[in-house]
Amino acid sequence: MELRIALVPGDGIGPDIVAQAVRVLEKVAAKGGHTLRLKSLLAGGAAIDEKGIPLPDETLEEARASDAVLLGAVGGPKWDAVPSSIRPEKALLGLRGGLGLFCNLRPAMLYSQLAGACPLRRELVEGGLDIMVVRELTGGIYFGKRGRNDEGAFDTMSYKKTEIERIARKAFEIAQRRSCHLTSVDKANILETSRLWRATVEEVKADYPDVRVDHLYVDNAAMQLVRNPKQFDVILTENMFGDILSDEASMVTGSIGMLPSASLRSDSFGMYEPIHGSAPDIAGQDKANPLATILSAAMMLRYSFNLTSEADEIEQAVEKTLAEGWRTADIWSEGMKLCGTAAMGQAVCDAIK
Ligand code: NAD
Repeated sequence: MELRIALVPGDGIGPDIVAQAVRVLEKVAAKGGHTLRLKSLLAGGAAIDEKGIPLPDETLEEARASDAVLLGAVGGPKWDAVPSSIRPEKALLGLRGGLGLFCNLRPAMLYSQLAGACPLRRELVEGGLDIMVVRELTGGIYFGKRGRNDEGAFDTMSYKKTEIERIARKAFEIAQRRSCHLTSVDKANILETSRLWRATVEEVKADYPDVRVDHLYVDNAAMQLVRNPKQFDVILTENMFGDILSDEASMVTGSIGMLPSASLRSDSFGMYEPIHGSAPDIAGQDKANPLATILSAAMMLRYSFNLTSEADEIEQAVEKTLAEGWRTADIWSEGMKLCGTAAMGQAVCDAIK
């Protein structure tokens, strides 16, 4: 199979961590007999330096022409003084919007080897955690009409039924690939958009009879995530609730350097990136943890190329590397083997048989 992947390394630690993910992709592709067609593209501060804007047209065009995008991170103090219209972060919004990505997947995985980094009591997360937050990305209150008048200010939350239906279908499909359990989160006791959300999820459910669905109010969901996180597998929710809950779920796992993400649309195209930023404080020092980016590459194989066993192979290699005791500084603890970015990438490659 030919895999056409656009690489957007970006700024700060971006190039270092993307390079390690590419090594891992090369290893699994060679093993599975797949051909990688990689194209490196400019975005963020790197693009401002070279082209004067954060998202050059050719980057968006080349990204559109590929099957998937792997992104590092953008931004850094060097570009703090540029006008807000061309800030590096505009590249992210431009890519997400320009590529029509409406579905954000944020897995919150706690590896049993890193259980000590979890702020929750050990018995609550015994055996590790594996939650997938499916967040609607292009509707809701962040995109509604807003304004100010003499008396105050307002923001508007609105959803079309079609917007709810397409994200619900994605979430049901993802639940089918996992444990067939979906928790839809809303505030249907108060919000009209939430009542439509709940009714639409119930309608879509008829097409996925093997998936068990629970509905939770968002305040309860926030509480349950720290009270008993193991009750969740796939959480489906709208844009703002998803923004908050996915951050809450990710903190449960303890380390920002471990968490991948995906932004998808209805076809198989997707953009994959770690949830952390460009970490300018450790850029170019071989200190960054590349595992979130390597795990993003695994998500890419699973969701854009349907290469499930190759994706599993990368995830198992990451687990094996952790079990062998390899740790970058952000996840290091007493008795573990401290390593740099490149050595961590090498260890994951070595763990792929
Ligand atoms: P950050 O995620 O870059 O860093 C926060 C802290 O976590 C820092 O101490 C950093 O060293 C550490 N960290 C982050 N990723 C790490 C990794 N892989 N390995 C080890 N340690 C890691 O957040 P920030 O400091 O708020 O932002 C820095 C820059 O990144 C800003 O310009 C911001 O706008 C940008 N940013 C970009 C994205 C993105 O591209 N998606 C997301 C968030 C922030």
